[in-house]
Amino acid sequence: MNVISEKIKQLFFDTFSTNPTIVRSSGRVNLIGEHVDYNGGFVLPAAIDKSTYLAIAPSNAETGKWISVDFEKSIDIKFGVFKPLPQHRWAEYILGVVEQFYKRGLQVIPFNCVVTGDIPIGSGLSSSAALESAVAFAINDMNGFGMSKKELTKLAQQAENEFMGVKCGIMDMFASIHGKENHVLRLDCETLDYEYFPLNLGDYKIVLFDTGVKHNLVDSEYNVRRLQCEEGLAFFRKHFDETIPNLSQVPLAWLQASRSQLNPVVYNRCQYVIEENQRMLSACEDLKVGNLRDFGIKLTATHEGLRNLYEVSCKELDFLVDAVWHESAVLGSRMMGGGFGGCTINLIKADVIDDLYARLSILYKEKTGIDLKMYSVVTANGTEIL
Ligand code: ADP
Ligand code: MG
Repeated sequence: MNVISEKIKQLFFDTFSTNPTIVRSSGRVNLIGEHVDYNGGFVLPAAIDKSTYLAIAPSNAETGKWISVDFEKSIDIKFGVFKPLPQHRWAEYILGVVEQFYKRGLQVIPFNCVVTGDIPIGSGLSSSAALESAVAFAINDMNGFGMSKKELTKLAQQAENEFMGVKCGIMDMFASIHGKENHVLRLDCETLDYEYFPLNLGDYKIVLFDTGVKHNLVDSEYNVRRLQCEEGLAFFRKHFDETIPNLSQVPLAWLQASRSQLNPVVYNRCQYVIEENQRMLSACEDLKVGNLRDFGIKLTATHEGLRNLYEVSCKELDFLVDAVWHESAVLGSRMMGGGFGGCTINLIKADVIDDLYARLSILYKEKTGIDLKMYSVVTANGTEIL
């Protein structure tokens, strides 16, 4: 228990006169392996010490009251009805998860709940996946459904895909649910096999700089990238091997041999995906032997690929990366997540972080007029009942 969980426990008790179960679920970062999840590649996320907290207990009625501390809103819910809640988008993330249990023929005991958290919302640290994961975990526990963590992960992803209409991959929920303190998780997005790697950063820390922007290109460009990758994969299946499972596993030599036949833009997208998957696997080897310098260089190389070949960066992200990557106290810097805004992820020596942040804030404000936010995070355990 900590201050936040004590606070919502008390709020729940004051509102419903009963003690709730408290579930905590983490946000996530992804160190390397960007835009490869939907191409069947490997990603390297970690759950972080910023969490969503859910206080929950059966309502003993056909309805339930759901309260959001952060949005200062509440809503009465009739269970078994799955309609959009346009005034309460936050509650749709909970309802979408409930719906997935119903879709599996599992009737959920109606519940009251209170939600809060300290994950910056909408900054790319996956506060939405943390909320869905917490709800899925809590419902499974409260109803004794006995579903595995992997099943709950898929359920949470489907909730976001189907009810929220967001075509996200599985990484965010996977990291939120399976995270482990002092570790990153190497996830094979094709098979969902995973392996924990110890993350020993020594004097360095994971630091996120938040651009404070979210350009509305995100959704449309995301769908375009998916189509371009599908076009590339279809080409390699037709001309090289129809059994190749995904784009990430296409050998670079096939790509290079196809330059004159592929649309140049599709060529660049494929080059990024194939190189990123290989870079990610080699970065894991760096981690294994404690070679943080080479690991960091690969992070920055990922940014170059995302900027020049995959073209999902933006001027604010590029500015933040360009301003820091060459500093000797910075191991690596890159945009993180879908792109067109959100945060950069950086590995920075602990004793210079405050100074660097102060300098960068001034430059960023001059350039964009935006106050730069910074989050320093450490790895944490995945979803748990407190
Ligand atoms: P992110 O990158 O943080 O996942 P999204 O736009 O995908 O950004 O999800 C953010 C949305 O998730 C919020 O606008 C809200 O609807 C919901 N959400 C996340 N955290 C909370 C919370 N603590 N309380 C209520 N709703 C939340
Ligand atoms: Mg999200």
